[in-house]
Amino acid sequence: MKFLTKLAVVAATTALFSAQLFALPQHNPVPGGIAVIPVPLSTSTALFENRQVMLLSSQKEKYAVVGISLKTRPGDYPLELTHKTASDTDEHQSKLSFKVGAKEYRVQRLTIENKRKVNPYKEDIDRIIRERNEMNKAFKSFENLAQPAVDFVLPAEGPISSPFGLKRILNDQPRNPHSGLDIAAPTGTPIHAPAAGRVTAVGNYFFNGNTVLLDHGQGLISMYCHMSETTVAVGDALSPGDLIGKVGKTGRVTGPHLHWSVSLNNARVDPNLFISEQQ
Ligand SMILES: [Zn+2]
Repeated sequence: MKFLTKLAVVAATTALFSAQLFALPQHNPVPGGIAVIPVPLSTSTALFENRQVMLLSSQKEKYAVVGISLKTRPGDYPLELTHKTASDTDEHQSKLSFKVGAKEYRVQRLTIENKRKVNPYKEDIDRIIRERNEMNKAFKSFENLAQPAVDFVLPAEGPISSPFGLKRILNDQPRNPHSGLDIAAPTGTPIHAPAAGRVTAVGNYFFNGNTVLLDHGQGLISMYCHMSETTVAVGDALSPGDLIGKVGKTGRVTGPHLHWSVSLNNARVDPNLFISEQQ
């Protein structure tokens, strides 16, 4: 009897421990959000709009974690699954459907003093295209890590000065919506990796200024912009909390801040969805 009780305690502790290890981002299926969809344990890959999406699993559960871009319209969307169990000789396919709800983001008007950053010169265009391609390549990566780091902490200390998703009007001209969140902090404030990841790009970009991109695995990429300096190199493997650079005002800015973007299956999503609610 005593032995049984001890076993029960061990089982309860293990369950608690695995619950803590098994972090899931918040389910918020709207444009700019994330759908966390239960899938059969036999699922080996999941595709959304022909792009591989993240699969997170414990021994008993598996979820497809789908990034939904700001451009996605509300409605029903298919998720295409491939299954293969240990006893299966062949893969087989199935489909399920999930709903994307509506979300209206506020409008934000900003005045940028450096007009060239709003209406670039002809000679800036090649640079802008080259840099966009470099960033897009990093955003489209799918590193097949079994346990991608999905439990983030804020990368810098400071108030959120501009939330994710705002519809932006720069110097009275409509521009792309705000694809990250801004943390206002003085120049020189340290920026830390919010989770484990590998550095996949470091650059001084026309719009984003001094920038670092981190790959956390399975299509989860984070980006840090406008830094005064960067302190990492492409290929560096970072632990949570490692210094990646310092807050600055390089690129297209109104003042010093960190612009932090998080991308999942090449959709920019609200970084807050990766921050545990307990914090
Ligand atoms: Zn920003």
